[in-house]
Order: sequence, then structure tokens, then C-alpha cells
Amino acid sequence: ATSLQDLHMVNSFAGLPDAFYTRLPPRPLTDPVLLHANAAAARSCLGLSPAALQTPAFLDAVSGAAPWPGGDCLAAVYSGHQFGVWAGQLGDGRAHLLGEVDGPDGGCELQLKGAGRTPYSRMGDGRAVLRSSVREYLASEAMHGLGIPTTRALALVGGSNMVQRETPETAAIVLRLAPSFIRFGSFEHWAAQRRPDLLATLTDYVIDRFYPACRDKQTGDAENGHKQAGPVLALLRQVSRRTGELMAAWQSVGFCHGVMNTDNMSILGLTLDYGPYGFMDGFDIRHVCNHSDTQGRYAWHAQPAVAQWNLLRLANALFPLVEDEAALRDALGTYETAFMSAFQQRMAAKLGLQDWDGEGGDDVLLDDLWKLMHSQQADFTLTFRRLADVVTGEPGNGPLLVNDDGLRWDDHFADREPARHWLARYRQRLGRDGRPDAERAEAMNRVNPLYVLRNYMAEQAIRQAQAGDTSEIDRLMRLLAHPFAAQSGYERYAEPPPDWAGGISVSCSS
Ligand code: AMP
Ligand code: MG
Ligand code: MG
Repeated sequence: ATSLQDLHMVNSFAGLPDAFYTRLPPRPLTDPVLLHANAAAARSCLGLSPAALQTPAFLDAVSGAAPWPGGDCLAAVYSGHQFGVWAGQLGDGRAHLLGEVDGPDGGCELQLKGAGRTPYSRMGDGRAVLRSSVREYLASEAMHGLGIPTTRALALVGGSNMVQRETPETAAIVLRLAPSFIRFGSFEHWAAQRRPDLLATLTDYVIDRFYPACRDKQTGDAENGHKQAGPVLALLRQVSRRTGELMAAWQSVGFCHGVMNTDNMSILGLTLDYGPYGFMDGFDIRHVCNHSDTQGRYAWHAQPAVAQWNLLRLANALFPLVEDEAALRDALGTYETAFMSAFQQRMAAKLGLQDWDGEGGDDVLLDDLWKLMHSQQADFTLTFRRLADVVTGEPGNGPLLVNDDGLRWDDHFADREPARHWLARYRQRLGRDGRPDAERAEAMNRVNPLYVLRNYMAEQAIRQAQAGDTSEIDRLMRLLAHPFAAQSGYERYAEPPPDWAGGISVSCSS
């Protein structure tokens, strides 16, 4: 489509009963400006051509000034557990669902984030600051570039509105895209409200739209009086599987979400709600990216267990539809299997191994690598990336560890001795695999990114955008769409961060 008018928009979520949402128009920003439009997402999610993004109608639509043709704007209700504590009703306090479009890659919902207050805003102002909007805009595309399931972002809009956080800041809007923004907390909401009827309605909606294969599943136990128990259990299995795969993906790139509350857990296994997230620079197993998380609940090493805890909350919410604790626990078991198998697959690929031989020593080899990286805070991204340059063989087989830049792998480590010791074991392991070095290096460079969205990179883009210059946002969007290939002009982003990066603090404030 070359114009918004040509998009066929519907809103299937609006077909759910009224209790699920409140219809209301967005409140546009004053003096809206299109800071960035994502041509790649426009094309693949909506089938929208680049020309359509340059029109005044596009700015009106993505800034909330004009309704989307055929859309039906609403804010959805949900509840959730925040930092381990039941928080009761939350909901889209600053998000407006505009509708959905059938795109080349399947159905896609459009949502404005930061377009004003809703009945679910509680004490909030319904706005999002430019700082956090730039972070969400960049991160969702960085994740997509890494091949990790995520919501996406179509447009970033600035305005002259000021909002109060720790200091006054400029407001912005992000237009987000996803097949659905339904969360674990959407289910918890109806369980807490003691509305099994609406819980069943939501479950049916999610199964029919996103997990149709779950529909035919019968419960093993014919005695079970709940005719929907089979599909619900099948749904829980699939969500557990996707969530396990997502956690494996996050862990493998050193990504910390920062706020893994159940209201931020996608029922589709997407990375959702980018707040104080972070890609690690120096590896710290206990890294906490969110300065508001003083207990370290959402530290890097804790994420897989937190996801499992969140799935247990989801299973609890689904209980009224199944009323069989053992069956729910059994379905939840899918999580651990899916996580472990996805994680081992990813780590085998990152280390350039044909397969994972856990008992044969790979578990220990990896564990020792984590310990080594942790004890010296080695750069997460570059430690893996530069392993590709290592050459197979026994220790002492010559100067085989130098890459194109003349950098040795053990240059990452202040104390080289333990690094060399680990490397010797790794080279022996490669020797057992017998794969040609060049082939292995190429495969490793397809899974170990050279560039990730480091905090300082986002920070630079934010500072420039706050000063009216969006060119760095554009540069990073181009770079992070292809994080595995060396790109000219971006050499410094393939290096450890500058010293000032350590001083950046990211909190829940957004
Ligand atoms: P978050 O921690 O960003 O996932 O948000 C948790 C809840 O607070 C969600 O229901 C949000 O919609 C709501 N919220 C966060 N910030 C604001 C805001 N500035 N105005 C209104 N609601 C907000
Ligand atoms: Mg309503
Ligand atoms: Mg949220």
C-alpha cells in the first residue's frame, strides 16, 4: 500500500466484551514531529511503502492527531505481579490500541505508547519521555535484528509537551507493532476478578488467533468436567515453550529486561515493554540493569527462574478453566525442557560446536567460561565474537589466536593466565569436533553479534535527539538491523564502551 487509506484495518480485540477495554481517542502531542519512521517494519508488518511514511497523513496517524482509517481505538485492562507482589489492576495507562492490519508477515496490531491518560493511568500522566521512547524504539529493532522475538516499532514522534519525571523532560510517542500485546497479566486479571467466563473468552480468543493447533487437544482425563481443559493445557505448554526459548535467547546475548513483571510478559513469547533494559558490557552474572531494582530480583542470572515463576502465575490464573493442578504443573514442565534445549543449542552455536555434549565436558567448559568472564568482567559481546578467531589444536601449536586487528582473544582479560588456560581446553574441544576453522568461524559470526545496543550508544542517540538531531537514531537503526556483519563507519561500536558508559544509570522512570 502506498497510503494509509489502502490499509485494511480491523480491531479484533475490540470484538471482545466491553469489560476488556475502554474505547477512547488518543491525545496527540503538541507540535508533533516525526523523529524517525521504520521503513523496514512498515513494509514487512503492514505492507506500507516508504513513500507513505513521508506524508502528512502518516504523521497525523502516528502522533494520535487523526484516527487510523478503519481503526477502533481503545485501552485494554490487565493486572499483574510487580516485583513479586500482586499489584491488582494495571492496564494500558499510556497505550492506545489502534487496530490491526493483515500484513505480509501475518496480522499486526498497532499501538501508540505515550498518547495520554486512560482510565488505567492511576497516578501517571499517560505520557512517555523522549529518553525512554528512543530506548524502546532502538531496542525493539535491535532485538529484531538479532532474530529474537520482540514487539517492533514503526515510528517515533516528538512534541513540545513537557512532562515531569526527576526533572522536566520532553514527551514523545512510539508507535509499536505486534501480533498482540496480550500479557500474562491479562489472564491474571480475570482470575482475580473471579470471572471464569471472561477468562475463558480471553483464552478462546488467544487460542483461536495465535495458537489454533491447541484447539483440538483433548484432555487425557475423560473425568475432567472442563471441556476446554485440553486446549487450555495445550496453550500453557506452548506459552511455556516460547517463553523458555525467549529466555535462552536473552541469556545468550547478555540481555537484561529489567522489569520482568507478569504484566510485561507477552502471551506470544515476545520481548515486551522496554524500560530499563540493558545489554551487558562487562559480564557480571548478577548484573542488574535497573537501578530501581535494589534487591536484584531481575538480575541477568535470575531471568530464567523469574520467567518460570511468572508462568506459574499464569498457570494459577488458568486454574479455574482446568481445575487439575497436576495437569497444569505437567504443562509448565515444558518450560524447563524448552529453555535448556534452546539454551544449549544457542551456546553450542556461540562456541562453534557441532552439538552440545553436556556430560562430555561442555557444561563444565561453559561454566568455567562464565566464571572467567565474570571474575574479570570481560566484555560479553566481544568475548564471544572474538572466539571465532581461535584456531583449532593443542596448546602451543603456534601463534594461532590473532585476529585481523592483531587482537588476541586473551586481550579481553586483565589477567591472561586463566584465560589462556581456558582457551587451551577450548581448542582441544574444537579439535575433537574436527570442523574446518574457516567454516566454524563463519558460522560463529552468524550467531555472535559484533554490535549490540549498548547503553552508551542509546544514551548518545538520546542526547542528540534531545538537542534536535536525530541522525544518530537513524545510524543506529541501520547498524542494528545487521548486527552480525562488520560495517564500515561503525568501528568504535565494535569495541568495548568508553569509560563514561559506566556512569550511566537507568531506572524505572520513563
Ligand atoms: P511499566 O512498568 O512501564 O510496565 O508500567 C506498569 C504500569 O504502569 C502499566 O499499567 C503502565 O501503563 C502504567 N504506567 C507507567 N507509566 C505510566 C504513565 N506515565 N502514565 C500512565 N500510566 C503509566
Ligand atoms: Mg469498558
Ligand atoms: Mg508494562
